[in-house]
Amino acid sequence: MTKKTAARRQKQSKSKGAKPKTKKSAVSIKARTSNKQAAGDKQRITEMIEILSSEFPDARCMLDHSSPFELLIATILAAQCTDAMVNQVTKSLFKKYRSPEDFINASPEQIEKDIFKTGFYRNKTKSIKKCCESLISRHDRQVPSTMDELVALGGVGRKTANCVLGVWFGVPGIVVDTHVRRLSRRMGFTEETNPDKIEQDLMKIAPEHEWTHMSHLFADLGRTYCAARKPRCEECPVEHLCPKILD
Ligand code: SF4
Repeated sequence: MTKKTAARRQKQSKSKGAKPKTKKSAVSIKARTSNKQAAGDKQRITEMIEILSSEFPDARCMLDHSSPFELLIATILAAQCTDAMVNQVTKSLFKKYRSPEDFINASPEQIEKDIFKTGFYRNKTKSIKKCCESLISRHDRQVPSTMDELVALGGVGRKTANCVLGVWFGVPGIVVDTHVRRLSRRMGFTEETNPDKIEQDLMKIAPEHEWTHMSHLFADLGRTYCAARKPRCEECPVEHLCPKILD
């Protein structure tokens, strides 16, 4: 055995013999650290909301709609698609399909053709059909106003449900779209990639009455400064509060 190896083994055995931290003290240190971090994040996100509210005073849902049903359909179509393209498609779509029955009575091929430009048109057609069937069979054609009922419609996830709840029914909800997902990771508010987990992380630190508004602010910030490919950090109004964790 070389001197170096012997020294290393001795060091290892000493460290094995060192008195370990009790489970209780380790847990409480971790809890204190995470409480401190959460308090810092709460303050940071609140400041960001304040700054972004002056930067984007007109932040709102960008999907054109005149009823909760139209908003529901537009939000389903908005997956992996820009709001501008959805608005272009729904301009004529909502003239042709005015009720859940109109979508049920149309063939999948026809709907696919009508929503083609929004991408993922086969899956979106299935989602729209499922959702319209549930609206007719369980809700007397009305869009329900609770999270549980909305996600049980079929073809509707939490993002869509939160959008409908927040924008139409005034129930606060964080809409984890592509902008909120990207920005909340860059800002260090979450390490998650799953939208539902990101939503949970943001719900712990953002004031509840700001959940819907914050989603719109983040979307505007994402479109204006924090683009997926080239974030313009040097011009960003919340640059001093952002750790800029770029993937
Ligand atoms: S500072 Fe950069 S990374 Fe952070 S939100 Fe602004 S543009 Fe995005």
